[in-house]
Amino acid sequence: MKRNNRLVRKVVVGLLLCLVLAGILMLYARMLQKELDKETIRTLNEVTAQNVNAVKKEIEREFTLLEEIADRLSTEETFDPEQAADELRDIIKRYSFKRMGVILPDGKAYTTDQAELYLGDRDYFLKSMAGEDALSDKLRDRSNGDDIIVFSLPVYEKDKVCAVLFATYHVKILQELMAVSAFGGNGYSYIISSNGDAVMDTVNPTGFMDFQNVYASLIGASEQNKGCAEKLRRGLESKETGYIRFHNKVDKYMFYSPLDVKDWYMLNVVPTGVMDSTRNFIMLITYGLCGILILLFLSFTGYIYRMERQKKKELADILYVDGVTGGYSYARFCVEAQKSLLKETSAAAYIVMDIDNFKVINELFGYEDGDRTLQYIWGIWKKCSRENEIFARRIADSFVILWYFDFRQELNDRLDGFIRKLQENLEGKVQESAPDYNLKCTMGIYIVKDRKENIQNMMNYAVMAHASIKGQADKWYAFYDDEFREMLLRNKLMEDRMKRALKQQEFEVYYQPKYSTETRELIGAEALVRWIRSDGSVIMPNEFIPLAEKNGFISRLDKYVFTQVCLHQKMWLKEGKEIVPVSVNLSRKHLYNDEFIEEYQEAVEEVELPPRYIQLELTESAIFENQEALCRIIDRLHMIGFRILMDDFGTGYSSLMMLKSIPIDILKLDKSFVDDFDDPRGEKIITSVIRLAQALHMEVTAEGVETEEQYRFLKELGCSSIQGFYFARPMPAKEYEKKLKQRPDTEATIAMPDR
Ligand code: C2E
Ligand code: CA
Ligand code: CA
Repeated sequence: MKRNNRLVRKVVVGLLLCLVLAGILMLYARMLQKELDKETIRTLNEVTAQNVNAVKKEIEREFTLLEEIADRLSTEETFDPEQAADELRDIIKRYSFKRMGVILPDGKAYTTDQAELYLGDRDYFLKSMAGEDALSDKLRDRSNGDDIIVFSLPVYEKDKVCAVLFATYHVKILQELMAVSAFGGNGYSYIISSNGDAVMDTVNPTGFMDFQNVYASLIGASEQNKGCAEKLRRGLESKETGYIRFHNKVDKYMFYSPLDVKDWYMLNVVPTGVMDSTRNFIMLITYGLCGILILLFLSFTGYIYRMERQKKKELADILYVDGVTGGYSYARFCVEAQKSLLKETSAAAYIVMDIDNFKVINELFGYEDGDRTLQYIWGIWKKCSRENEIFARRIADSFVILWYFDFRQELNDRLDGFIRKLQENLEGKVQESAPDYNLKCTMGIYIVKDRKENIQNMMNYAVMAHASIKGQADKWYAFYDDEFREMLLRNKLMEDRMKRALKQQEFEVYYQPKYSTETRELIGAEALVRWIRSDGSVIMPNEFIPLAEKNGFISRLDKYVFTQVCLHQKMWLKEGKEIVPVSVNLSRKHLYNDEFIEEYQEAVEEVELPPRYIQLELTESAIFENQEALCRIIDRLHMIGFRILMDDFGTGYSSLMMLKSIPIDILKLDKSFVDDFDDPRGEKIITSVIRLAQALHMEVTAEGVETEEQYRFLKELGCSSIQGFYFARPMPAKEYEKKLKQRPDTEATIAMPDR
């Protein structure tokens, strides 16, 4: 849930960033557009200024020229208009004027083209008569109707204006001068007077039709120009430079600027499209880039979102799916179990299960077979579980299961059913290399008391029940229930009492004699400890040895038994009895700490007992756990002079080949083999074990021999010695001592010891 929120937050932040980026880009684009607009205006302003300058210069140039001529015509004597006209006729050839002439104060004009004209009513004439240089607005030529403007200057006769020099100028010439070339012929110009009247029209065909007054033309071109016409009027009134945007077939810019000639204004027009095309191109690229950037950013955000989703899914897969079985992981199991427990109403059993010696499967058959085994077991749980029940592999070969039941017997039956399924039809399904490998598992079952209890606690209870039977070949499952709790309590009490019991010498060594198969003579014994309580009750080692191994007390107990055996042997030796070697059990716990070797050596040396009278029994299961350390320990024990027996051979998983590398002296064939002697397979195994042992120069002792048939059978196969109830049960030292006295004892078969 938390992760989900985080993801949503990330996406929202990504989108917000995207929006901010888009905003910034838009702002940038707007600014760029404004800047480009300004640039456009600046360019147009420059073009307008150039035009204004060119026109101003042209007019100034004409005036300068005409001033020179007026000076020349001015005289100290009487002014002769005919002669002046003649003179002007010479001059005009060199200039671009249409007509020149002088006008006498009465208005009669003497012109270069000898036209008969009366010009006394013209404004410019009146102004120049008053002594001013003047320039007319656009006029219509009185002789041919051409558009003209007229320059006029006073001519003096002895300091008095006696006539007006005038020169007619074709508006066309100005028009040519101002043809705006900067916009590829798309631009054009007008000159107007401050009231909007046309001074100079354009020759450009896209200009206003019949241009007489700019306001009239603007409004005539389009109604929507009203606003800009007004703006133009205000601009002209305040003698400003500026521009308007108007519509005449297309949108156009019109720049206005005072000409500094009379009250004239220069108007420069260019279609907005011409100016805008560059700007639009730049804007298009900018918007395009913005779009691409935003798209990139969006796809990046999308990509991150997708990656996150995928990562989350992968994580969930890792967390919630078991890699080997493909079923629930333990994490998922815990979640589902907790939910299920609150939903279901039947009694619940929390089961932990593991396979006995799974390590062996892996090491002997390889990890692939190991995995296949786990998948196979998972499959059986699946088959045996109901819809509402949950199961998962927890770790390694450990499984957890939550089952429901109404009666305890029902649960037991279902568990038995599971065990049956586990063992049936196994051939080749699990280990291809060993099709008949026998799978054995153990289960610890906690009968759930409080459904709201922490799953981990349930697990702990189930594990405790499991641990109580772990490694016991004949036990498949144990319950953590009231009985179990009592047993735990009992064990706890026992543990507490053990140490005191040692001090109070409640532990007693019993001896179980071993006999030669051939001669039926006593050839040795095994020391077996008994706990005899003060009230005379006897606790058997199977009850307290596992506890002692768990709490570490075993090392003190074993040492005690060892010392007792040494003392007994020495005593009997001193008494002149013919003693035989006694084997003492050595807990596997010793193999993790070799300090005991020195202690044992000191113990024999202290009583001065030849070490050959002592043997040590190691259990087979210890071998597999730490072969190298075991070999080192055996070597050191050999150096002292002890012989080494391998106890319970056949119950563990060491292969016969392993025997080669471990320097064992005597093999103790486990009771289970002896029990199986009449089954053909059992016979085969016993035979080959004995043969191999002989080949490796080991003796073989058979344990747990109870019957005549077993004895005969083992004798036939060449087993060297026998230990079992058939000959003798474990007995107190006093009783065993008697057997020593009786040596040679060929009637051992009739001896019936008490325990
Ligand atoms: P173990 O070392 O395999 O000892 C042999 C067990 O088999 C003894 O049980 C013995 O009484 C029993 N036994 C012998 N012959 C027969 C037979 O014909 N039939 C049957 N049914 N049982 C037979 P015990 O004395 O109860 O000892 C049980 C186990 O406790 C021993 O198994 C050994 O592992 C352990 N143990 C006993 N004493 C000591 C000790 O001093 N130190 C250590 N570390 N373990 C000991
Ligand atoms: Ca033993
Ligand atoms: Ca044994």
